[in-house]
Amino acid sequence: MKRPDYICEVPSNCDDRTEDRSIYLTFDDGPNPYWTPQILNVLAEYGAPATFFVIGAYAKSQPELIRRIVAEGHEVANHTMTHPDLSTCGPLELEREIIEANEAIIAACPQAAVRHIRAPYGVWSEEVLTTSAGAGLTAVHWSADPRDWSRPGANAIVDVVLASVRPGAIVLLHDGCPPDELGQCAVTSLRDQTLTALSRIIPALHERGFAIRPLPRITEQTRTHVSA
Ligand SMILES: [Zn+2]
Repeated sequence: MKRPDYICEVPSNCDDRTEDRSIYLTFDDGPNPYWTPQILNVLAEYGAPATFFVIGAYAKSQPELIRRIVAEGHEVANHTMTHPDLSTCGPLELEREIIEANEAIIAACPQAAVRHIRAPYGVWSEEVLTTSAGAGLTAVHWSADPRDWSRPGANAIVDVVLASVRPGAIVLLHDGCPPDELGQCAVTSLRDQTLTALSRIIPALHERGFAIRPLPRITEQTRTHVSA
């Protein structure tokens, strides 16, 4: 059996990738009651779809946001239950982190089809990949990372994204923050730069001829171009 792997970009031979210049937007660490609605408003303004890798504990406390994300045509995906570094988890804890997050999402929104997972901090291991595959989840990393969580300035976020995207690129942004970092910054200034940057990134990508698309289902056959 082929070892499960993660994807950094959507392969060009993927069935669902009908456009040559497709880009995929992803948001981690939400949903956040202050920032996720504003991110959703910008996406709605441009009709751009995204995938939200949510923390299960937040899905549990903010079920209405999970329902809004799905109702507005976006995908909700798994970012574990409590956002640990999975390399520090034993096998049972690892499985619980993944399964409980799936359950929290489905409890919040039974229509949510959870298909993808992203490991906190992008820390993948053979165990994480195998457990994810066992739960029916495709592992999704990223290829464009402006480190928006570090608040480098909206201009810097825009510049890094535009400089690093190419067809098939998966862009990493954040609409929330992990539980253990919540008190470090006032919530009102947590993702202001991400929001400002997003409202510039989408039209700039469109101007460059890119189409923002929902993450397709990646099958074993389409993984041959994986650049991980
Ligand atoms: Zn995260």
